[in-house]
Amino acid sequence: MTTSTNPTVRITRKGVDRWKAGHPWIYGADVEPVPTSLAGGEVVRVEDQRGWFIGLAFYSKESKITLRWLSWEDVAIDRDFFKARLLAADALRQRACPDETTYRVVHGEADLLPGLVVDRFGDYLSVQFLHKATEQRKELLADLLTEQFGCKAIINRSDANVRRLEGLEPEKGVLRGEFPGPVTYREGHVTLEVDLLTGQKTGAFLDQRDNHVMASEWAFGEALDCFSYVGGFALQLALKAKQVTAVEISDAACAQITANAERNKLTNVKVVSANAFDFLRDTLDEGKKFDTIVLDPPSFAKNKGALEAAIRGYKEINLRAMQLLNPGGILITASCTYHVGEERFEEMLDSAAADAKRRVQIVEKRGAGKDHPVLLSLRETRYLKCFVLRVL
Ligand code: SAH
Repeated sequence: MTTSTNPTVRITRKGVDRWKAGHPWIYGADVEPVPTSLAGGEVVRVEDQRGWFIGLAFYSKESKITLRWLSWEDVAIDRDFFKARLLAADALRQRACPDETTYRVVHGEADLLPGLVVDRFGDYLSVQFLHKATEQRKELLADLLTEQFGCKAIINRSDANVRRLEGLEPEKGVLRGEFPGPVTYREGHVTLEVDLLTGQKTGAFLDQRDNHVMASEWAFGEALDCFSYVGGFALQLALKAKQVTAVEISDAACAQITANAERNKLTNVKVVSANAFDFLRDTLDEGKKFDTIVLDPPSFAKNKGALEAAIRGYKEINLRAMQLLNPGGILITASCTYHVGEERFEEMLDSAAADAKRRVQIVEKRGAGKDHPVLLSLRETRYLKCFVLRVL
């Protein structure tokens, strides 16, 4: 079956070159003529200026990204199509983390499913429909996910601000089943509890799971975890360190760090409700020292314009962390800001080390876990950097 009934969108020569080079996004400037009859969310046939078919895409009216690649071939974008993509996505996780029941099942474009994010927490799924195309197909996608995972509930966490760029209001709620209340899952030797409805993002930052566990291998002495959320890093540090201070600005998250520490019988975690920038400055003034520090702040730049301010923010916290470390101390430092690439992040660390007058070794460079694949042709899907440094 072909999709010849789908509306057609033509793209410029430049757009075709991009498309043929494998880039899955086509911007508005490369769509010509501007489709006037489309409302957004449609599957469209993409043609070059001569009218030759070059593929299928989701159409977006409001976004700067007008077309998002779906297929090179003229196939039906139907139930079977989405089912196959969901199965292919999960097949990767079956190989990447076969013993886990908590992982990212679908990582949007990187799993060839633009506008869809699915995190699995055992019997529960937490899902984001980020574009009109996935929003309009959410019942179908929920049916397929229920079928595939036999899940007890699907939580809709489409309360992301990026939806506004697509002309959609953020929204959240229970899409299928009954709200389970808080759910627990394991990371290495630690059990964490999160709330899929009221927690941040989809409930947890699963991209840092492997890095959390890795942190316990490095932790020693006096440890500090800044931007702690529910304690993903703090609890792992507590397995090896003498004492851990977890700094977090959200009171709700602070309460969860405390509860998670108790759940794991970790009595060496001290929770501080504070702005990490202030905490680092004040602690330095007090002359306190640490042996292990984790910095995992929220994104500091949502767009290119905010890049320089973001670099200043990263430099400030990294510089202070380096100053706070005893010689031989370990700094695990992350950035989830896509606009700050790995090279720029490394330059910033170099400059922080120079200002701190410390010699710093890179021990390991990491990214998100294997359940967050990166699409080679879409660098935007490579956003997380996590460096392990030793500060001499
Ligand atoms: N490290 C966490 C994820 C961090 S997300 C993990 O691995 O799971 C960023 C966290 O920083 C959020 O919980 C947010 O509430 C908190 N936060 C944001 N700004 C902050 C600030 N200025 N000081 C301290 N915490 C902050």
